[in-house]
Amino acid sequence: MNSWIEISEDSDFSIYNIPFGIFSVGDSGKRMGIAIGDQVLDIAELNSLGLLGHDIQQDIFENNYLNDFIALGKPVTSSVREKIQKELCDESSVLKENSDVFYDQSEVTMHLPIQVGDYTDFYSSIEHATNLGKLFRDPENALLPNWRHLPVGYHGRASSIILSGQPIHRPKGQTKPPEGDPVFGPCRLLDFELEMAFIIGKSSQLGDRISTGDAGDHIFGMVLFNDWSARDIQKWEYVPLGPFLGKSFASSISPWVVTMDALSYYKVAGPVQEPKVLPYLQYEGDKNYDINLQVSIAPEGGEETVISNSNYKYMYWNQEQQLAHHTVNGCNVNVGDMMASGTISGKDEHSYGSLLEITQAGKKSLTLIGGEERKFIQDNDTLTLRGHCKKDGRRVGFGEVSAKILPAKD
Ligand code: CA
Repeated sequence: MNSWIEISEDSDFSIYNIPFGIFSVGDSGKRMGIAIGDQVLDIAELNSLGLLGHDIQQDIFENNYLNDFIALGKPVTSSVREKIQKELCDESSVLKENSDVFYDQSEVTMHLPIQVGDYTDFYSSIEHATNLGKLFRDPENALLPNWRHLPVGYHGRASSIILSGQPIHRPKGQTKPPEGDPVFGPCRLLDFELEMAFIIGKSSQLGDRISTGDAGDHIFGMVLFNDWSARDIQKWEYVPLGPFLGKSFASSISPWVVTMDALSYYKVAGPVQEPKVLPYLQYEGDKNYDINLQVSIAPEGGEETVISNSNYKYMYWNQEQQLAHHTVNGCNVNVGDMMASGTISGKDEHSYGSLLEITQAGKKSLTLIGGEERKFIQDNDTLTLRGHCKKDGRRVGFGEVSAKILPAKD
């Protein structure tokens, strides 16, 4: 495919991508767009020009969220994406002479793309689960007995999922010093978690199960996901019911939703699962995705230091298995639900997806490019996750999710 738009080779938003997002410009209302190169194409305007087909109501596109569009179903959303691709490759397209439909990404305001109904966080990287087991439990038997038999997860908090760029105040909470009584105050061990999340594109009915074979029909696309974690709060509160306030203060996502249509070109085989999983978790074909992931940290006014390079393909449990497991008891899912992967760590210390692992829970320090040292995130640090696929010269990326940590509120 060749577009008449100038797109640099290292752009995440190539003609093969066409990710959907919600933007506004000046005091215009929120509307749907796609990212192409360093521009945003106004899809609402394309629909009013009659270029998208399907006779879709204009308020689907002049909308605060993508949910209504996604709910039209993949036959429609995939066809809309293909029509946009064709238009951007057609030398005789009316868009070529129409400057009203394009904006520089630098001049638009991006908004949270999805109204997230429910948010679930999995724990599906075997390297991450093993690292944590070694740190906090038994180095010889790091994985708990259930781990290789089911994709462990918990129900998270949807209300505090926020868009990249929105700063976050350091959370306060209750912690327990090694000696003495619990205390209340700002979190001291603030961490990130390198994750990705998939978005439900087709609802299911209460009581019904989604099989691994059908799961793909229910998944619309993906975003980068930073599951901010207050390790000291988490450590004291999590027994016996799991994560609570140490996680729920904020999770940041990237603004552009990259479709599974765009990502299907980058499918790869997942790790061999041993022992063999129960029949409802068995699957056929390549279900992992080769997505390069990177984490960097920058102190106030300082340079970014890359602190991890990981990959989504390391996931032990894939999306189809996660969704099959999530619904195996009859739990229904809805369009706009968000399912995060869990921290994505690789085998070596340069591919760990959290500071907890990188600094061995604060036993070691990281030295940043400017010479400063870090064990956990300090006030005014900015944390950025990036992700992209690349194969045969085709690049499809997510851009970034970035946020600055502000001091705790009084
Ligand atoms: Ca997590």
